Amino acid sequence: MKVKNIKYFVEFYSSLGISNCIVPNSRFEKHKNKKNINIEIECTKKLENPKNETKGSKLKKLLDLLQNSDCSLKEISTNLVFSDGNENSSIMIIGEAPGGEEDRIGKPFVGQAGRLLDKMLGYIDLNRKNVYLTNIVFWRPPGNRTPSKEEINSCLPHTLKHIEIIKPKLLVLLGNVASQSLLKTNEGITNLRTKSHLFVHHDLKIPTRTTFHPAYLLRNPIEKKKSVGRLIRY
Ligand code: URA
Repeated sequence: MKVKNIKYFVEFYSSLGISNCIVPNSRFEKHKNKKNINIEIECTKKLENPKNETKGSKLKKLLDLLQNSDCSLKEISTNLVFSDGNENSSIMIIGEAPGGEEDRIGKPFVGQAGRLLDKMLGYIDLNRKNVYLTNIVFWRPPGNRTPSKEEINSCLPHTLKHIEIIKPKLLVLLGNVASQSLLKTNEGITNLRTKSHLFVHHDLKIPTRTTFHPAYLLRNPIEKKKSVGRLIRY
């Protein structure tokens, strides 16, 4: 191998997530003194390995990507609403899209629905220090309307990446938009919530529960009693 190709060789393997290679000394012993071959040094050099990246830096990269993405909602909202809570939690809760308060503050579930969600979590000894919260759509749809298919689809690859990074042990999907988009179904939340699901994406298989969105529960308080029990039984 020519020295000038080694850089590309190393970069290629690095891009596959291979951080270093073990080169048996004997194989290259006879070349050791040749001045244009320095394979050992090149190969054992510490490379930047995406697999060794911390969750924090992966999340930061995803956030940067979102900040530079071109969802149409971005232009008409105040803030990108990314996440809240504990990124190391084994429970990731995904809602629909930010509302007015969330848009103003830049954090998910800080409005009325968020306060109800906090209460629901409190009933099962959870809170924002031990769960991770986000939405399917990262910007507020005007007038809090349901995000369109296009808006959902433009955010979905980032949401999938988000789940890959957090890699929770349990996904909790709130309402129709999150449940249908991630479970790839048209079934409504009233039926979905009665079943257990497995979220499958690449090699990820995550047990998933769905429940009514807290905003729906605010409008239909009679349904509240059905909502937390499903999570308790997890
Ligand atoms: N509703 C959601 O789905 N997400 C929020 O962040 C707030 C309200």
